[in-house]
Amino acid sequence: MSELWLPKPHLSISQIKSMEFCERKYYFQSVEGVKSDGIAPVFGGIAHAALEFNYANKITTGHDLPVSVVQKHFRDNFLIKQKEVTDWEGRNPADVLKLGEAFVAFHMLHMALTIPQPTAVEQSFETIINGVKLVGFADLLTDSTVYDHKFSMTPGKQKLNVDTDMQLSLYAKVFNKEKVGFNLHWLGDNGKPAGTTVTSIRGLDDFKKLDEAVTACATKIDANKNKGDFPKTAFACKGKKSGWVCEFYDLCWSGHKVPNKATDERVWNTLNGFEKRRPADVDNADKDKVFDDLLKIETTYETVELPF
Ligand code: SF4
Repeated sequence: MSELWLPKPHLSISQIKSMEFCERKYYFQSVEGVKSDGIAPVFGGIAHAALEFNYANKITTGHDLPVSVVQKHFRDNFLIKQKEVTDWEGRNPADVLKLGEAFVAFHMLHMALTIPQPTAVEQSFETIINGVKLVGFADLLTDSTVYDHKFSMTPGKQKLNVDTDMQLSLYAKVFNKEKVGFNLHWLGDNGKPAGTTVTSIRGLDDFKKLDEAVTACATKIDANKNKGDFPKTAFACKGKKSGWVCEFYDLCWSGHKVPNKATDERVWNTLNGFEKRRPADVDNADKDKVFDDLLKIETTYETVELPF
């Protein structure tokens, strides 16, 4: 296959999943570079960083850190990063902080000891599949397995299939591991954190499906480029059903035009270095108030320490 045109010179699995879900969603994320300003991605990033902190230490010491130390990492990061959040999605910042600390405690007390000695954390990679460059990061590697951490603040188990997930297939291929897994964390029906580790095996059939998905996505993007535009209408919108709302719903249905290559040079000429923009400005007075309120919260650090 000849080299494909891409908005950036590479793809990621999340871009491929967006393209499969809705071309317009892909367009907002990867061509215009619209960043979500909601709490969910910020929360996920802070929770990932806390676990990374523990496992990076474990690589050198062979031990997990005390629960309270990992919780403190979450809290310190949260106090900094919460200033970036403009949409709390109806949640109270103090409750989000407490939930994060509870997730960290759950992971450290119920999941960390079941994971074999780590060999790498937050491992970056790039690879070429059928002429298309893919880039990404793997959360946690051991001698036998690559793990991906997932956090959900909404009640109920995540709808992820460990046996077919494309991200995990890519990890297995890139890191030459047969075994892959998710460390899943979600909110139980009783309002308390829940979680589990699930693993699966990957083989040649999975890699073939991955290759096909990468090629199909890149070819579709190529076709859109040749056509000169991405979808202008939201006729096939899946973004407001089953209680889940697409993060681009307001933007998408606000009459925002997807520009045409022929008529909007600004977007189409900056595709390899597009500017990031945030949809809304936030009132700084509100931000300071949230920060002050958070500092008043009593710590909820788990007092139970791990037995080593
Ligand atoms: S709101 Fe609907 S059409 Fe628009 S990006 Fe989201 S899923 Fe796609």
